[in-house]
Amino acid sequence: MDIQHTSSPEAGKDYPRNWNQFLDWFASEEACLAYLEQLRWPAGFVCPSCGVAEEPYRSSRSRLMCRSCGHQGTVTAGTIFEKTRTPLRVWLAGAWYVTNQKLGVSALGLQRVLGLGGYETAWTMLHRFRRAMVRPDRERLGGLVEVDEAWLSISDRDDAQARKQATRRKRSTHQVGVVIAVEMLEPRGFGRIRVRRIDNACSEQVVPFIQANVEPGSKLRTDGSAAYRDLKDLGFDHHRIVMLGSETAAHASMPGVHRVAALIKRWILGTHHGSIQAAHLDAYLDEFVFRFNRRSSGSRGMLFYRLLQQAVVTDPVTYADVVNPPHSVAASE
Ligand SMILES: [Zn+2]
Repeated sequence: MDIQHTSSPEAGKDYPRNWNQFLDWFASEEACLAYLEQLRWPAGFVCPSCGVAEEPYRSSRSRLMCRSCGHQGTVTAGTIFEKTRTPLRVWLAGAWYVTNQKLGVSALGLQRVLGLGGYETAWTMLHRFRRAMVRPDRERLGGLVEVDEAWLSISDRDDAQARKQATRRKRSTHQVGVVIAVEMLEPRGFGRIRVRRIDNACSEQVVPFIQANVEPGSKLRTDGSAAYRDLKDLGFDHHRIVMLGSETAAHASMPGVHRVAALIKRWILGTHHGSIQAAHLDAYLDEFVFRFNRRSSGSRGMLFYRLLQQAVVTDPVTYADVVNPPHSVAASE
């Protein structure tokens, strides 16, 4: 289990080839700690306090002490695993399950498969992983990019509540808007995507999304909405497709956005039974984007590796942070 930090990690060397190998590699907390340590400090321990790179003094199975400044910490301190009471074996199994299921997993599903005592533990674990699914330095989309809005039907309950209530109560759903950007490949096919929740399709909401997610100078294809009118002035090669009102025309003129919106809807209904709290929708969308943008990865284990690689460099998330996500847009209903 000697992790190599090459650009193309290998199955059986950098990440487990299958579940049997997973069980073999991560048989103890010590093995999980060692794996995370290699992911966090690929070239060897670097003190988070003074920055000195030197093999630390190990006072217990998890405690690392800097020989230079005496700073004491653990490999999980300062990461999404900070202060967790859940064993790392369970965390790693959770990461494996989330990335190996083609459509991910709901909190209820994760609670069951990991045998967790509480639904909240599974729910929080998934939300912490979702934070690690967004790389802060990720590159913006480029080339030809389609941008449009879509509306999703969600039921504003978590899936445990939904299950309990489904038989007794008719579901109440509401529509939530999202803006979707899709790289269009020539002659066909899609590249990467970005998706964000919006309150409405005005330029104040869609333009900052485009600026944050699409490389200036890219060729942008949108509909004729006034919300997009300033894109040329903002440095984009903007092409407006004016639709004539028929739904067929919309599908044909925005095939990328239409396809991605359909996949998101299917995912929300299938994996999450339509139940996503609106305040958390962005986190779910981050997970969808993480998986979609890595859909051509040869191995599912590669997603496990990437998720953990990002998890050990993602800042801790408190429970309060998860419950009240800081970047959420005010509920629009
Ligand atoms: Zn130090």
